[in-house]
Amino acid sequence: MIILSGPSGSGKTTISKELLSNIPKLDLSISCTTRRMRNNEQDKKDYYFISEKQFLSKINKNQFVEWEEVYKNLYYGTLKSEIYRIWNNNRHILFDIDVKGSINIKKKYPNKSLSIFIMIQSLNILKYRLINRNTENFHKIKIRLKRAKKENNLSCLFDFILPNINWYDTKKKVVNIVKNFLSKKNDIGVTGFEPATARPPDVNSNQSELHPD
Ligand code: 5GP
Repeated sequence: MIILSGPSGSGKTTISKELLSNIPKLDLSISCTTRRMRNNEQDKKDYYFISEKQFLSKINKNQFVEWEEVYKNLYYGTLKSEIYRIWNNNRHILFDIDVKGSINIKKKYPNKSLSIFIMIQSLNILKYRLINRNTENFHKIKIRLKRAKKENNLSCLFDFILPNINWYDTKKKVVNIVKNFLSKKNDIGVTGFEPATARPPDVNSNQSELHPD
């Protein structure tokens, strides 16, 4: 399992696309969300777009391996069935999810997973990137910036922290780290870069039961 995280706008989705095109045995875990579909998105490809009622019902039925109310009244979560779908196809899973969700997955699968944090260079750069992306209004951008500041402080709980200073370099480094990890039968022991601190503690986990490991 590869867990890619970082603040919204850090570039992790672009990096996850790079990973998917370079490593054919990787499959993206498609999350559920209650947010509205954007113009450039497709249901069941970018997300499973569902209503809040459907999302809450899935929580009650314990169908998520992790979920978060990432923004007020906006829920995001990874279905257990999604993990089985990918494993049953004999492929490795790539998660592109928020920081808390990543830490929770890492905690559930400490030896099967590698977690990578894409660090933003500065809040100003992130602000301009989000404005240019043009997917959120200014109020929502402000909320995302506030959240990014908090998320950067949790980066030390990841196996690797990579500052996204140069796109080309960052993408190359991530692909190498992931290839190395997968070639070592999922043991963490990647050389060439300094891992961050070892094991994550509990981070506001809202899920009780562990998915079978
Ligand atoms: P966006 O609305 O920009 O697609 O995503 C907002 C944030 O939610 C991003 O940081 C994204 O990585 C995160 N996210 C997407 N799917 C999941 C998920 O299944 N679980 C969690 N915890 N976060 C997710």
